[in-house]
Amino acid sequence: MASVFGHAIAAIGIGKLFPKAEMTRKVYLLGAVSAMIPDLDVIGFEFDIQWESMWSHRGFTHSIFFAITWALVLLVVFHRKKGFLKHFQLGSYYFLATVSHGLLDALTNGGNGIAFFAPFSAERYFLPWQLIQVSPLGIGNFFSKWGLEVLQSEFFYIVIPSLMIGLLGTWFNKNVYR
Ligand SMILES: [Zn+2]
Repeated sequence: MASVFGHAIAAIGIGKLFPKAEMTRKVYLLGAVSAMIPDLDVIGFEFDIQWESMWSHRGFTHSIFFAITWALVLLVVFHRKKGFLKHFQLGSYYFLATVSHGLLDALTNGGNGIAFFAPFSAERYFLPWQLIQVSPLGIGNFFSKWGLEVLQSEFFYIVIPSLMIGLLGTWFNKNVYR
């Protein structure tokens, strides 16, 4: 994974791209949770799942299919009463926030590849660029030289791009969404 902080920051940046009116604190919070939830698959380490399996780390929960399903679940649970247009907008946000997790992981320089096409294919992928220092899994390991390198690479490759996306979104909100 990139670190949980990196994933959450990316989700907030992506949220800025959407029309402000629907982007309440609750929506941002759900977006940040969406960007972190794929790593719950580390529970697989407890069950001795083979890494080739689509259920191992960076497998099913990092897939496009999971992101769509998760976005639909959030709509049903938290936004049942909204109309189609708002569902489309919020659903797109939750989808992008969730799928951003796998994409950022695919930019890291360690660990498994990402099973973007699970459950249809267990094949693992990386993007062509390994820009981000892979993050340690335990919090304890985070306070180390490794942790510092993670922060540094995430600052350049997650925080700054998220800020730029946020600025672009602010511009959209001022000039396009009216
Ligand atoms: Zn991950």
